[in-house]
Order: sequence, then C-alpha cells, then structure tokens
Amino acid sequence: MDQVEQLRPHVLIFPFQAQGHVNSMLKLAELLCLAGINITFLVSYNIHNRLLRHTDVVSRFSKYPGFNLDHYPDAYDESKIHTAQQIMELSSSLQSVVKPFLREFVSKDPAHGTGKNRPRFSSIIADGILSLALDVAEEIGLPLIYFRTISAGAFWTYFCIPQLVEAGELPFSGDDMNIRIENVKGMEGFLRRCDLPSFCRVSDLTSPDFSFLLRETLQTPRAKGLILNTFEDLEGSILSHVRTYCPNLYTIGPLHAHLKTRLQLQVANSNNSNSNSNSLWQEDKSCIKWLDNQPPKSVLYVSFGSITVITREKLLEFWHGIVNSGVKFLWVIRPDSIKAEAGDDVLKTTKSTPEMELEEATKERGCMVGWAPQEEVLAHPAIGGFLTHSGWNSTLESIAEGVPMICWPYFADQQPNSRFVGEVWKIGLDIKDTCDRVIVEKAIKDLMVERKDEFLHRADEMAKMARKSVEEGGSSFCNLVRLIDYIVKG
Ligand code: UDP
Repeated sequence: MDQVEQLRPHVLIFPFQAQGHVNSMLKLAELLCLAGINITFLVSYNIHNRLLRHTDVVSRFSKYPGFNLDHYPDAYDESKIHTAQQIMELSSSLQSVVKPFLREFVSKDPAHGTGKNRPRFSSIIADGILSLALDVAEEIGLPLIYFRTISAGAFWTYFCIPQLVEAGELPFSGDDMNIRIENVKGMEGFLRRCDLPSFCRVSDLTSPDFSFLLRETLQTPRAKGLILNTFEDLEGSILSHVRTYCPNLYTIGPLHAHLKTRLQLQVANSNNSNSNSNSLWQEDKSCIKWLDNQPPKSVLYVSFGSITVITREKLLEFWHGIVNSGVKFLWVIRPDSIKAEAGDDVLKTTKSTPEMELEEATKERGCMVGWAPQEEVLAHPAIGGFLTHSGWNSTLESIAEGVPMICWPYFADQQPNSRFVGEVWKIGLDIKDTCDRVIVEKAIKDLMVERKDEFLHRADEMAKMARKSVEEGGSSFCNLVRLIDYIVKG
C-alpha cells in the first residue's frame, strides 16, 4: 500500500453470518474497492473458510491492494440456522463472544502485527441486525452506516409493528389470514395478515425472535445512514416513508447488477475473472451445460435459498406439482434442506410406484443439483420462470434478469416480498402457505404457458428499470456516488 492508499478511508464491513448477507455485502465491498476505498471484510472463522473453499474470492480481490478478508472466532454454527429463533440465538452468541472481540479489533491499529500497512478504520458498515456493532461504534466514536439486506417494503413492515400493536392489529387471533392490515402506511391497499413477516404469527409478542427482530429494526435511526439493496423505481413510494425516519438513505441496488455494470466498465478487469460467486456451497456448474440444450424461456428454476428446510411431505407435493405441469425444470435441493429422519435420504429411498414415476419424469425433463451458480442460471436464456422462497437476493436477481416468479415464502421478510411480487409489481404469482400439488401445477402452467407473455412483458419492463438504475446517471448509480462521497469526506 502506497502513501496515497494510506490517505484513503478504511471501512470495516461487518455482515451477519448467512449466505444472503455475506453475498450482498461482498458486492458492496467490491464496489467500494473499485472506488479506491480500503476495506476490511470481517466474517466468522467458519464463513471465512467456506469462502476460501468454494469461491475465488482471494484471487478476485487480489487486484484491490486495500482489501482484506479477516475473521472473528466462531460463536455459533451458522449452518444450523433455519428459523428466526436460531437467528436470534446466533445474535445473542455474537453479543457475548464477538462484541468484545470487535471492540478490540476496531480500536487497535489494523496494521499492527500484520506486516501490512493499513490506515485506521474511518467508519463501519454493519449489517442492520447487528446492533452490537452500533454499540461499539458509538463507544469508540466511529461513524456507522447500516446495511439492511431486506427490501424497503419488508423493512417498513418491521418498522411499523409498534403501530400495529397500538392499533390492536397485532397480535391477531382467529384463522382468517386474509384480513387487511391498515396501519402500515403506504400498504393499506394490499397488505394482509398473511403478508406480514412470519415472526408476527405469534400470540405472544414477548417471544424472543419477535422481540429480537423488532428491537434491531427500531434501532436503525441511531445509525448515521442506511444502505438498502433496492432501487427507486421499484420501491419509491415505500422509500419515501422510510426516509421520514432514516433520511440519510442510500438505495444502491440491485447490487449484483450494479457491480457487474461497473466491472464491465473497467476494461482492465475484464480478463481477470468471469465469476463473481460468493457461494458458501460448492456450485454445480453442470446445470449450465444442461440449460444450454434447452429452448429459450422453457425451464422453471426452483430454489428455496440457503436457509429454508422443508418436510419430505412438502417436497413431494412440489415434486408432483412440478412434474405434472409438464414443464422442464432445474431444481436446487441443498443436501441439508430436507427435514427427515436420520439417514432418510428422500431422493434415494422413495420407492413407491408414483415416486418412481416422478424419478423417471425428472430424468426426462429435469436437472437437480445441490447448489447452483444462481446469478448465471437466472441470466441464462433457457430460464422462463423461478419458483422461489422470495429471499430478497433471489427476488432482486430474478427482477434484474426479467424472470417472472412463483413465490412460496418460507419466513421473515419473505412473506411481504412475495406479496409485492404478486400484487404490487405483478411479475409473478404468490402461493404463500400452500404447496398443494394441484396449486403448484396450476401456478406453473399459468406462469410458464397460459399467461407467459403477460408476465414476461412486465418482468422485462422491470428489468429495464433495474438496469437503468445502475447505469451512469441512474438512481442507484448516483446514490453510490453519494455514499462514496460520504465515506471519503467523513
Ligand atoms: N444461491 C446460489 N445458489 C443456489 C441458491 C442460492 O448462489 O443454488 C444464492 C442466491 O443467488 C442468493 C443467495 O444464495 O444470492 C440466497 O439469498 P436470498 O436472500 O435469496 O435467500 P436466503 O438464502 O437468505 O434465504
């Protein structure tokens, strides 16, 4: 690092330890590296090792002398996180184990003992559910900006929970999940009980996961700014509400498209690497070859992200629905995603006649992998639809490629996300709370056959807006410039 780099700001980026969080915050890290900012990216020891094992992150970032990947001691095995309760448990372990570590890490001279010449930290960008970093930043007197990895719509529903409680809309009793929610400003016309974040489905508002996510969200205005991975044309009206509480807001998404656009502009980088993967699992690229042999817009991509677990019964409902639709499909089934008895491998032990027929149909029309290069898959011309759990990264990746979605949200922010896809943006179908084979089959036929043109048209319009936002002069482009300016000037 030369003297000029010494003078540049040094930002500590501190993500929550889960795939979607690490993925989007690494994209941000690279965008900031491209602007010449020094970055230390701090993850758990386990995440650090998984990144080294499954990605080319070290060689990819070697072109940025100011980048440094560092780790803290493991506090909790993140591969065990499948529920909001476990997210909360991880967070409490971080409080006790990682908070003292972070305090020391941020206070000491980053160059000390490393043999490298690094300036002291000038600011922190922390995951918006890690208020332990905010506490440390305030103690030490460093500015901290939050990065919230969920949509503005989901964030806003979290943020309005106290108003829902005050108005008696929460907690709700009774089975009618279609009752309208009236006290989330800007969403009065379409939000129902079932579209609220999953952790609202409790009768006891003192439950630990409810309290944890609410507490973390309500602290957001304490940060000096808020970064959201979204864009103005997608969520403008909700963003205006968020701004009343968090005026220093940076909407800079879709981050993966933003980074791709910037890298394409960097002629010098073009021959460095053709992969931007931040995967914590080994990607099975054989599915790309399989996709190469399929007609345009003919394949349904099925993936429920990195955290979802489903029962064997639900898996079979999906499987029947998908196969009965007659559509070709590429399905990601993470080895740890099926809730089964020990030693019961659902794909190998299904021996009943209908299930053997499913296996036959899968060989003819399907491809199954344990983990896919998802961004590449969604950008492939053969993909015509995405059956998704509505994780925010997956939703944005689909939007950016103009791929319509069938949404089957699993938990947390995914419930509001799927409502936006189905009812507000109308770029897909929301089948939340059911995976009955008949409903799955009908939704696939609607999306991929009967109403295909209509969905593709709207998704394509949205993709154009997404691309425009990250091009020079677009809203996300300008907001990133503003963010960089804020970081540089302090
Ligand atoms: N992903 C991937 N390969 C897969 C499945 C998912 O690379 O087979 C990536 C996907 O591109 C996205 C992330 O994992 O960036 C999942 O994040 P999301 O917010 O959609 O859901 P989560 O996993 O947090 O529930």
